[in-house]
Amino acid sequence: MVDALNSPDHGQHVAIIGGGASGTLAAAELLRSAAVRGLPLRVSLIDRHGRHGLGLAYSTSSDAHLLNAMAGQMSALPDDREHLIRWANAAGRSHLPAGTPDVTATTFLPRRAYGRYLLDTLADAERQAAPAARLLRLTGDAVAIHRNHSGTAIRVVLTDGTTLDAHSVVLASGNMTAGLPFDAPSTGTVITDPWQPGALSRLRHGTGPCSVVIVGTGLTMLDLAVTITAANPEATVCAISRHGLLPRTHPGTLPQRDQPIWLPAITRTNAPVRLTDLMWQVRAAIAASPANWHDVMSALRPMVPGLWRCLPLTDKRLFLRHLARYWEVHRHLVPPPTASRITALRRTGQLTVHRGRVLHAAPAAGHLRVCLDTGQDLTQLPADWLVNAAGPAADITRAATPLLRSLFASGTARPDPLRLGIDATTSGAILDATGTPSDALFTLGPPLRGLWYETTAIPEIRDQAAALARLIISTRPARQYHRPGSAA
Ligand SMILES: Cc1cc2nc3c(=O)[nH]c(=O)nc-3n(C[C@H](O)[C@H](O)[C@H](O)COP(=O)(O)OP(=O)(O)OC[C@H]3O[C@@H](n4cnc5c(N)ncnc54)[C@H](O)[C@@H]3O)c2cc1C
Repeated sequence: MVDALNSPDHGQHVAIIGGGASGTLAAAELLRSAAVRGLPLRVSLIDRHGRHGLGLAYSTSSDAHLLNAMAGQMSALPDDREHLIRWANAAGRSHLPAGTPDVTATTFLPRRAYGRYLLDTLADAERQAAPAARLLRLTGDAVAIHRNHSGTAIRVVLTDGTTLDAHSVVLASGNMTAGLPFDAPSTGTVITDPWQPGALSRLRHGTGPCSVVIVGTGLTMLDLAVTITAANPEATVCAISRHGLLPRTHPGTLPQRDQPIWLPAITRTNAPVRLTDLMWQVRAAIAASPANWHDVMSALRPMVPGLWRCLPLTDKRLFLRHLARYWEVHRHLVPPPTASRITALRRTGQLTVHRGRVLHAAPAAGHLRVCLDTGQDLTQLPADWLVNAAGPAADITRAATPLLRSLFASGTARPDPLRLGIDATTSGAILDATGTPSDALFTLGPPLRGLWYETTAIPEIRDQAAALARLIISTRPARQYHRPGSAA
């Protein structure tokens, strides 16, 4: 038991599971809210890999891994959109590559620098809230959450047996990575999650001719191709996905705010939106100004969560089956410098992109042989490395971690109807197996994919973090914890 945390002098105790961008922004917003109100507060930020402040996306050490959104869109503070730009031109300068010109709203910063920004933002919030409010960073894997014996708190159990009693728990566990969707040998040359600590350095290590097969053709694949070929110019990368589509290139300009999109489907706020109507209206908006399709997508994006909630379940399934991949390649854009590098790699043949389905991978004379079904024939691709970059799991119950398995098995949480994430209310309160919202267990960011669909990028996460912090801070002090034995 972490006793030091359980002193009543420190007011409410919030445990956040996951130290990535979602957990960090939630912690910063809680501390900021506590500072404004002068409230005592304890926040425990628990991360499995000790990547507090960074998580999966921002723990990269490569300056070639750029944000796919511009600095003007990536402030961590919802009420101060220039915050990141000011940081990057002052305290953050030392974290930018030498020779970086002044950062403006249209700069694509390295993700590594953005990680430093998140760390600094959290440290600032910590300073503002001290000494009444405190932040503790814990490294450990949370495996269970349940009410404590007296029913006065939620108990978080870590793998090493440490327990923490908290008044509220925020699940900020990020996306669930899918395993490889085919049989592959469990050798060190098969990387099932390239963002795991140490995975990229293993890939970067070799010299001489070397072939890397990457399953997936999204932004992660592009980052990997750039990293692998920069570390070893003799390496070749072969990227495979069922559709073979690459993300489109970012225009490098801010959206034209004076040209808002108008879609009839959007104005009918209470009526169900049908996917076919919506698609027709979006296509018509793009057809009216094809060169500005980026602006249509940018204008549409903030509306996606609302539209998603209005779509019937059958239409959501249709979207996931037939349209999601097209949405993704137009929505998650490649920063122009990365796009130029990728064009060059494709021109020299160092990167090839294939459409097809990998059937299996097997060892072959010290290497790997990857069997690809292209739809026309079966091809055997020789590979020294096989890397999974297929993105988040399509079914959370298949990828569930010990913590999620325990939450689902105990009925404390349930998957959303599409199994994209965890079922929750619009304020992030987790629904139990009967559909009752918890008053103490919350989530934000990627686990809310089923609810909002667009919920994985910083603009959505920062707004959710601010709203969640307000909810937890404003409602919790009035509560009593006297429900022995009740579920979280
Ligand atoms: C490569 C990449 C690039 C991206 N680029 C951008 C971008 O440019 N702009 C943008 O807006 N968005 C970008 N994103 C979206 C990105 O997902 C979010 O910005 C953000 O990183 C999500 O943060 P998260 O904290 O929810 O998840 P994660 O970063 O995955 O963090 C979750 C953390 O929780 C920990 N954890 C999970 N379960 C447990 C447990 N049981 N116990 C303890 N710890 C646990 C994990 O170890 C992990 O550190 C990018 C994503 C990726 C993958």
